[in-house]
Amino acid sequence: MSGLAEAVVDLGAIAGNVRTIGSVADTELMAVVKADAFGHGAVPVAQAALRAGATWLGVTSATEALTLRAAGITAPTLSWLHRPDDDFGALIVAGVDVGVSTPTHLRAVADAAHRLGAPATVQLKADTGLSRNGAGWDDWPELVSWARKFELEDAIRVRGIWSHLTDADVPGTPGLARQVAAFEEALRVARGAGLDPDLVHLANSAAALSAPRTRFDLCRIGIALYGVDPFGAAGPGEFGLHAAMTLRTTVVNLKRVPAGTGVSYGPEYVTGAPTRLALLPVGYADGLPRATEGRGAVWVAGRRCPIVGRIAMDQCVVDVGDLPVSIGDPVVVFGPDRGDHAQPTVVEWARWAGTNPHEILTGIGARVARDHLDERATTS
Ligand SMILES: *Cc1c(COP(=O)(O)O)cnc(C)c1O
Repeated sequence: MSGLAEAVVDLGAIAGNVRTIGSVADTELMAVVKADAFGHGAVPVAQAALRAGATWLGVTSATEALTLRAAGITAPTLSWLHRPDDDFGALIVAGVDVGVSTPTHLRAVADAAHRLGAPATVQLKADTGLSRNGAGWDDWPELVSWARKFELEDAIRVRGIWSHLTDADVPGTPGLARQVAAFEEALRVARGAGLDPDLVHLANSAAALSAPRTRFDLCRIGIALYGVDPFGAAGPGEFGLHAAMTLRTTVVNLKRVPAGTGVSYGPEYVTGAPTRLALLPVGYADGLPRATEGRGAVWVAGRRCPIVGRIAMDQCVVDVGDLPVSIGDPVVVFGPDRGDHAQPTVVEWARWAGTNPHEILTGIGARVARDHLDERATTS
């Protein structure tokens, strides 16, 4: 063990989640491993997801895509957010599909292909309501006609047409049908311009699990891959997903204090009775949001115990009362719900912080070691 805390990532849970989602969605799956696989470690997660049946990898940036290639991962990979001056030649050489949303980017990709003498494989993105990346309705006809022109020059091949949903995690949202209709219209326009994409995709985790009309050829799976229920359940939820990450640390100091003792900076928190305080060597630099003050809890000695006082950069203090806790004892900050609601989950941490689980997971600090349990070593 090295470092003061570790994020233990259960690759068996990742693999099980791929199989669970695959059995519901019944399409190809793209494991979305952007942002270092939501903090879980992109390379081992990608490998586990592919072994479990995912056929594609999705990342945000060229750098992330090339990191996978440098680790020897050759699976089909889509990268979707680029500066217009990114090194598209490197993506062409690495065999990475380039997500393209503007004619500016398309020209840059085609230029890189001309320079290399090798075509780029691109996937054109339509904006169907998110108003972020993707070509807007007014620009889509221009994007697809440029794409067809570059195809005829052998500079590019359009493999895919895709878009992203706004709120598929809200059951019954009316926006979903509107987005599906807009996407189908975008497909019609693209085909009308002469494009013939093999890979049409729209769904994220929530849609893959709950909205059959969004599934098309492939679903892009992010949060559910990591075992977090996209509909907000704190535990496995309706689909039986298994949280892959357990954030662990150790008690490094322990003291008995009288009533009226101030705890941590401020101090706004003062003990109401004599108690024992355990010090944990994790703080907001490790990803425990300071904004959870007064709500956060951890699991120690088989119980849920409150974090008291402010979370500092490197440390926080837990009121363990008279529980049989010793220096060196293990502590779980969050992990899978094992059915007893004792161990906090990342979904609870997100609620305490007023954010989503994605932000908690991607906020786990760089100095927290990632330990990967391979599929055979796991119990779930
Ligand atoms: C992050 C992301 C996903 C994954 O979304 P989840 O809701 O986490 O499954 C899918 N597609 C795109 C374009 C993304 O940026």
